[in-house]
Amino acid sequence: MKNKTLNELGEFGLISNIKERFAELLPNNFFGIGDDCAVIPIDDKYSYIITTDMLIEDVHFLRKEIPLNDLVWKSMAVNLSDIAAMGGEPVAFLSSIAIPNNIPASYLIQANEYLFDIAKQFKIGNIGGDTTSSKKHIAISISVIGKMENSKIKYRHNAKIGDIVCVTGNLGDSAAGLDSILNNRKDNYLIKRHHHPFPRIEEGLFLAEYEEVHAMMDISDGIASDLKRIQSESSVGIQIDIDKIPVSEELTTYCEKYNLPTYKFSARGGEDYELLFTVSAEEFGKINSEYSKKFSKPIYPIGKIVKDNSLKFTKNNTEIELKEFQHFSKKNN
Ligand code: ADP
Ligand code: MG
Repeated sequence: MKNKTLNELGEFGLISNIKERFAELLPNNFFGIGDDCAVIPIDDKYSYIITTDMLIEDVHFLRKEIPLNDLVWKSMAVNLSDIAAMGGEPVAFLSSIAIPNNIPASYLIQANEYLFDIAKQFKIGNIGGDTTSSKKHIAISISVIGKMENSKIKYRHNAKIGDIVCVTGNLGDSAAGLDSILNNRKDNYLIKRHHHPFPRIEEGLFLAEYEEVHAMMDISDGIASDLKRIQSESSVGIQIDIDKIPVSEELTTYCEKYNLPTYKFSARGGEDYELLFTVSAEEFGKINSEYSKKFSKPIYPIGKIVKDNSLKFTKNNTEIELKEFQHFSKKNN
């Protein structure tokens, strides 16, 4: 273990190491590492849920490509999305930034204005943070705190055999947006989807009302990778029909134009920040019809939870292999 490189250990390996090492120190009744948020009980009825996410220049964003308002939006949105993933309501946040000395003060002042705009939109208060200089790159770290009823918290570990696996919207736009930037074939719609994801707070709150919605998370690394977490946390098998994954017309057109397989983006690509959840097959129809009425869009079923402990993807009824995304992994390409 000690001689392993980060490449060999991978992001999942690293996190499970941390989880094991610190398990004995976790306070009673706290839920720690392993889900979209940690859960801190307040009393018998309510808990705080807490998440943190960091965006690093040249890893998560390219400064010359992303407008400042989108950069600030995305830094907050990826955290709000983790609150949505548990079915919670955000209440407050902390914001930290490391920024090189040569960037003008007006940049930070403007960034704060944009931060205020999104905080106002989601009605969340700023309760602190940290500000520091850096040598070269910008790093932004935001932590969001939410509050919710204990009985409504949606974990990754609660998927049940027979459940339908669903998503709340189109997948792949964000990854294709990045692809379009990196390969110099810019597509404005897809780029906006990459830079300005919408956290599904309202959808999460709606789904949390139903106890028949069993497991839930948000899609940050792409379903090939994210489904693995539901699979291992719930100790179940998952079968996904790639042809059922909803995709935008813009993604289809982009893939046709450049002769690319759509599923490369829809199943492997990350950062769409839609919700991924499992729901009992008996209740799917009722929940979908109420959801459709409220949001004027349907829930999209893409597969099912099965007994045998594996994750399988089929396309045109044929099983295919999908590589997953992990930070540090050699398997990303
Ligand atoms: P998400 O994509 O939903 O933000 P991650 O994949 O980043 O979730 O993290 C999975 C779990 O691992 C979360 O519970 C997160 O809090 C935890 N985690 C990630 N990195 C660390 C770390 N360096 N120390 C402790 N916990 C971590
Ligand atoms: Mg998440």
